[in-house]
Amino acid sequence: MSIDLFFMIASGLFGLVMGSAVSALAWRLPRGRSWVHGRSACPACGHALAARDLVPVLSWALARGRCRHCQAPVSARYPVNELLCAAWAVLVYRHIGIVPMLPLVMLWGWMLVALLWIDYDFQLLPDALTFPGTLIAIAAAALGPGSRHALFGVLMGAGLLWLVAELYLRVRRIEGMGGGDVKLAAMFGALLGPWGALLTIMLAALAGSLWGGALMLRGKGDGRTALPFGTLLAPAAMVVYLVGDPIMAAYLQLLRPR
Ligand SMILES: [Zn+2]
Repeated sequence: MSIDLFFMIASGLFGLVMGSAVSALAWRLPRGRSWVHGRSACPACGHALAARDLVPVLSWALARGRCRHCQAPVSARYPVNELLCAAWAVLVYRHIGIVPMLPLVMLWGWMLVALLWIDYDFQLLPDALTFPGTLIAIAAAALGPGSRHALFGVLMGAGLLWLVAELYLRVRRIEGMGGGDVKLAAMFGALLGPWGALLTIMLAALAGSLWGGALMLRGKGDGRTALPFGTLLAPAAMVVYLVGDPIMAAYLQLLRPR
């Protein structure tokens, strides 16, 4: 087995395990439960989960998406989340290889995945995640090639979202966006730099419009079915980290006079 394949498999397995930690974090943090203490239990029957219930993806698949004790359905979100975190680990490894910033970038993405779910469930982006997330992003940027862009990225991301929120408040007199979105933008801006932050916000806005349009076509569009902006921003930031450079290069190529 080549060393490259070994690292890819190791990243994927590590990502699966971290995925189940992300699930636990996204469930416990907004409910005010300790992430570290206490064992996971079935939310329906309260039965404590044993080791065999905690194997990523496999436990869910073997139990056919049901609790082994009470047969209550267990959301497909758990295996999906674990696969997402595994895919992130493998793709980041393939993107940057074994470098000092690698574990920090992986962690940054897993925290974004937790934020995605928490914002989806609670319309909340806890400081307990975005603040350390921003520090991790700054540390990763300092170790990588983007250190000089970190501050500009924070200013661009957070500044732009703050401006949009202010405009909403002044012009339409509604609170369109929470302060959580502004702090989330600092977290991805620090690693992605100013253009990456801008691209992330544009991508999330585009995805939100497509989602809203699709719901409207099916006659279900109203304010309550809209996705929270953080749920769109977090995965958009991860996509931009992986493929932002080629997108930006293609865009600049288009602008170039011929
Ligand atoms: Zn149960």
